[in-house]
This record gives sequence, C-alpha cells and structure tokens, in this order.
Amino acid sequence: MRAITTVPQHAGSARLDDVPEPSPDEHTVIAQVLQIGVCGTDHEILDGAYGWAPPRRERLVIGHESLARVLAAPANSGLHEGDLIVGIVRRPDPLPCRSCAVGEWDMCRNGQYTERGIKQRDGFAAERIQLRPEFAVPVDARLARTGVLLEPSSIVAKAWEHIDRIGHRFASWAPRRVLVTGAGPVGLLAALMGTQRGHEVHVYDRVVDGIKPKLAHDLGATYHAPDLSALDGLAPDIVLECTGAAAVIIDVVNRLAPDGIVCLAGVSSGGHKVAIDIGLLNRELVLENTVVFGAVNANRRHYEQAASALARADSGWLERMISRRVPLADWRQAFARQSDDVKVVIDFSS
Ligand code: BGC
Repeated sequence: MRAITTVPQHAGSARLDDVPEPSPDEHTVIAQVLQIGVCGTDHEILDGAYGWAPPRRERLVIGHESLARVLAAPANSGLHEGDLIVGIVRRPDPLPCRSCAVGEWDMCRNGQYTERGIKQRDGFAAERIQLRPEFAVPVDARLARTGVLLEPSSIVAKAWEHIDRIGHRFASWAPRRVLVTGAGPVGLLAALMGTQRGHEVHVYDRVVDGIKPKLAHDLGATYHAPDLSALDGLAPDIVLECTGAAAVIIDVVNRLAPDGIVCLAGVSSGGHKVAIDIGLLNRELVLENTVVFGAVNANRRHYEQAASALARADSGWLERMISRRVPLADWRQAFARQSDDVKVVIDFSS
C-alpha cells in the first residue's frame, strides 16, 4: 500500500512509498485513512529538523493528524465497521512513568514516550492503519469532511483544561477577555473554544486580509493586525500564545491583566534572540500573580473534549478551516506553503 515516508533528520528524503499492509489480529482496529492534516511539525520533519524513525529502521511513515474509517474492529471495542475514528498520537513510555501509568502520556516524565508519525512510531499517512482501540477516538459522522481537525483541537482542549485548573487557584477567578496570538489552525481552534466558553475573544495575527480575519470574525471574535501595537489598551485575562515567536511572547506577558495566565502552545524554532530584563520580568510576574506555562500533546480525555467541541461548532466554519485538499498522488503540493493556507489536508480517499 502507499504511504508517505521520510528519513528523519534528512531534509528532502520524503517520498510516496510502497509499505507492507497491516497484519490484522483480534486486538486491533484496522482502518482506511481518509485524510491527513499537515502541521508545522510535519514541515519540520520533512525539513530534517525533527522526528525519529522506529527502532532499527531508516524511514518513518509520517502523519499524526488523521481521519480514518474502521474496516475491522475487535468485538466489544465499541467500534464497528464504517465508524469514523481519529488516532491518538502519543503512546505511553514503556516503564511507565507515573503520568503514563494513568493515561496522562501528554505529561510523560521521562521523555521515553513515542509518537505516531513523529517519534519512533509509524504515523497515519498510509492507506491503511492499525491501532489498539484505546488509541482510536470515535468521531461524529457529521465530521466526515472535517474530523481531521480533531488532533489539533485536542492540543487546544488540553490548553484550555490546564488554564481552567490554574485559574481556579483563587476563588474569585472570572476571566472575561481572551487573547489568542496566531490565526493558524491551533489559534483559530483556540478562539473557537474560547467563544464556546462565552469569553470575549481577540485574535492577533500579522496577516491583514484573506480568510483568517474572516474566520475570526465569524466566530464573533475581534481580529487585530498587523503590528502588536494593534493590541494597545487590551488587557487580557488569558492569552493562548500560538505563534511561538519570541517578540510576541514577551509582548503578551506585558499586556496581561493582573492575575493573568499565558499558555504557550506554539513551538519556537529557536535561535531568535530578544533582549529581556529578567529582573523586570520577574518583578511583573510576581507583583501581578502571573502564570506563564507550556502545554504540549493531549491524552484521550482531551481528544474527547475536542470531539464534543467540534460537534458543537458550525460545520461551514470548520469546512472553511480546511483551506486546501490535495490528493495523495500530489502530496508534495501539500507541503508547498501558500499565503492563504490555514489547514492543508492530504486526501487519501481520492
Ligand atoms: C503534535 C503533538 C506532539 C508535538 C511534539 C505536535 O505537532 O500535535 O501531538 O506531541 O508535535 O512532537
């Protein structure tokens, strides 16, 4: 069967490959892949900057944002032929650490977790995939065209869950104003969940026109661009930082309302230096009870929270989040960035 593979840490090595079919057994789900989403991590892997092949293998099947249709499932798994599923990305470390032992592999403490399509485990960018039912999340049939957004939504669901838990450190926490920086898929999904929670949501991005401002407006959010000065006067209670850009991170910490929370959800590429006065930053964080924290990955609970958020979202809005659908045969085009891209999807069903 066809699959997209690459040699991790070797830029330019990706190709459409012929790989062995999965071998069915009574414990695992076999599913037909319908769509694979492309994100910044996939770009990094193809650029040779991230990713690890499975043990004793040179090539890795990429793809961690999936939507697939069940071909066969174990009896009593709750899954049946024809069901739509999304595969969970991370697998617990083998020890396991105390987080992985209770299914919170997103909080793995020893770094020995594996990730499908990223770290030492083949991904989902293959015509057929095999996975244990506990790592297959059922998706509403209404999300047949957009369920591929579930994985990035799970990252956002985790971020929101942790914001809530941090917020409740004091009894009168009542956040109103939310700022999301970065109007990529993660930022826009963070804004969606912010509006679903009834917050006043603001979205910042460098892009002035095109689909991103429209998608933000259609959520009822206020869009700010192109310079950070467009945020003057805004004192958000919560910031979901989804750009990973050093200048944006420093800027939003300074704009926060007292007792505010900044969730860093964007991964920086590193090497971008910004001079900061740590003493002054410390003073601001301490005197304002500020929390700045990072969030990565998601466990099954977050996928389920995300599935319910997507099921409640406007289907036309979700459809517009997928700005390009590229047939598998033309998969390279999915990695050629275009200015108005939001989420680019590789269509395995065509
Ligand atoms: C994925 C996460 C993963 C992270 C680090 C992200 O793109 O969505 O599931 O944990 O990369 O590998």
